[in-house]
Amino acid sequence: MSEVRRIQGRAFVDGAFKDDIVVSFAGGRITDVAHHARGSADAAGGVIVPGFVDVHVHGGDGADFMDADDAATARVLSFHARHGTTALLATTLSGSTSDLKKAVESIARVVASSPRGAEICGVHLEGPYINRKHAGAQDVHSIRPADASELGAILAAGPRLRWIVTLAPEIEGARELIQHYKDRVLFSIGHTSADYAEAVAGLGWGASHFTHLFNAMTGMHHREPGVVGAALGSVDATVELIADGVHVHPAVLRITATMLPRRTALVTDAVRACGMPDGKYKLYGYEIIVADGTARLSDSGTLAGSLLTMSQAVQNMVELAGLPIELVIPLATEVPARIAGVADRKGRLEIGYDADIVVLSEKFEAARVFARGQEVSR
Ligand SMILES: [Zn+2]
Repeated sequence: MSEVRRIQGRAFVDGAFKDDIVVSFAGGRITDVAHHARGSADAAGGVIVPGFVDVHVHGGDGADFMDADDAATARVLSFHARHGTTALLATTLSGSTSDLKKAVESIARVVASSPRGAEICGVHLEGPYINRKHAGAQDVHSIRPADASELGAILAAGPRLRWIVTLAPEIEGARELIQHYKDRVLFSIGHTSADYAEAVAGLGWGASHFTHLFNAMTGMHHREPGVVGAALGSVDATVELIADGVHVHPAVLRITATMLPRRTALVTDAVRACGMPDGKYKLYGYEIIVADGTARLSDSGTLAGSLLTMSQAVQNMVELAGLPIELVIPLATEVPARIAGVADRKGRLEIGYDADIVVLSEKFEAARVFARGQEVSR
């Protein structure tokens, strides 16, 4: 039996902050969450929250998952863990079949090696079956009709992984693809020119998630509700929000989280330039320029992912969007854990759950992070 560690302070338990909570953990799991008088364990020095779960992240610290390089992948896991993310879906971009397979093979190898830092819970394939008209920063030459046999080959490169596939429901082959793989893959509507009816049809076939809501999709008009209207009007589909204050106006962040508190997941959509100095970086086939807190394609100026960390996203939802922190924490923990299929062991401070624990400072920095019980060094 490994040594039991304890951390004490104001903690987010059962949907609320409570004082004088002691969280005990051993062997990578939480063994007890209880109220105790002061002084019986390590003082946390901030509020104790569950580790963050990011279902849409491409990279950081100069590396990304399309590098298909095990050391680069490990670098991304360690970087985001330092900012409070203890679990993530490794997110790819529209690329050639062989590049996507190589990326997935590397991810699968890294998962098998049980690296430190954030745990990879699966892969999020963002494209290539999307709409060129809403490509965003995705390589337009790699965008193609949905192809079930190609997707089968990519899934086979990581047989034990969980999957999200972002696709546009209006493109050729989308319906067949969703219907064929919906039991194995969580399909997400994104990078799409669909109208409301096409998006609702996609939900009917089995899609159940929306990739970075509002970005790279048709907006909501009161006579044509678009993809955004289909997402907001759905009963149970989940949505992603990039809460950097640039991709989506803070008022819209507030409106969405208030309307959909059980269905909104904060994501970073962070690219390799996240955590790096201003300058030029690559994003699969493209060059991006990082300046003034944004990453943009060097030719068109289109936003190209973000430079966001999850702790910054939480801060923005509180300080820019004006939401109470009690409402925000589940958007970074419980909701994305459900989307990633790991809600039975991540996203909450609860006995038996993974010891994924973040101490958030008053300035919303991840002052201390434990990933499966191991303290992440800063
Ligand atoms: Zn993305």
